[in-house]
Amino acid sequence: MRFAYVNGRFCRHGDAAIHVEDRGFQFADAVYEVWSVRNGQLMDADGHFGRLARSLGELRIPEPRCRPALEHIIRELLRRNRIRDGLVYLQVSRGQARRDHAFPKKPITPTIVLTCKRLDFAAADARAATGIAVITVPDERWARCDIKTVNLLPNVLAKQMAVEAGAVEAWQVDADGFITEGSSTNAWIVTKAGTLLTRQADHGILHGITRARIIECAQRLGLDVVERAFTPEDALDAREAFLTSATSFVTPVVSIDNHVIANGEPGSLTSALREAYLGEA
Ligand code: PLP
Repeated sequence: MRFAYVNGRFCRHGDAAIHVEDRGFQFADAVYEVWSVRNGQLMDADGHFGRLARSLGELRIPEPRCRPALEHIIRELLRRNRIRDGLVYLQVSRGQARRDHAFPKKPITPTIVLTCKRLDFAAADARAATGIAVITVPDERWARCDIKTVNLLPNVLAKQMAVEAGAVEAWQVDADGFITEGSSTNAWIVTKAGTLLTRQADHGILHGITRARIIECAQRLGLDVVERAFTPEDALDAREAFLTSATSFVTPVVSIDNHVIANGEPGSLTSALREAYLGEA
């Protein structure tokens, strides 16, 4: 049986429910966070808890639980669901109130929902061995993509376009012609000169926790890393390309819009970074 956690109670996943006037449901007035779980441990726990606090602060939603309490709930949820390898999903909305765009005048209690699911990391390894295809799409999101809100409709539509094009991810391109990021991943290339490029952590992208860890890994490996935007043309001209996220770690990208990158195989720096990251995790 699967279990979820909603507002202080563990319940059967199928029975888990929130109110119809929850502001997360009504307005996407909610933030979320995702941790990978490997061998029963949360990966990059500090980074994800830190980003959760920042997202909540940016939206002025009070922290529903302190970190030790949240960690306790997560451990119990993983135990009840017997998960050692998978992911934990947490969503916190501003709470439930009579529908009105402005924040409720009286303080309300945030809604907290936690679920988890098993993941087959062998499938991710297999994907990493061959590399994946991406397409490019216009970035049609709002101006605060650095906040991890559940307002994901443009990301959903972008991902669906990728799937329908036979690709795995969509790299979004801003109005100036620069790639921002994927629908749920950060984008990277290795230039012909061997420099690693990933967009600067501005308001145009989610500040990926894996992205930050890969910058550290790359620096430890003595690689040259520059945080700046690059175009689809730069990516097509690159020596390697890859994407990062909590659940896909480091995944090689071998084609963009049906054009093969370099020799069409995962690059050696990409593979070295994946190994370094997983070795440290
Ligand atoms: N960019 C977007 C839009 C995302 O949704 C995610 C993850 O969900 C990422 C990047 C990668 O972030 P992280 O490495 O913290 O999983």
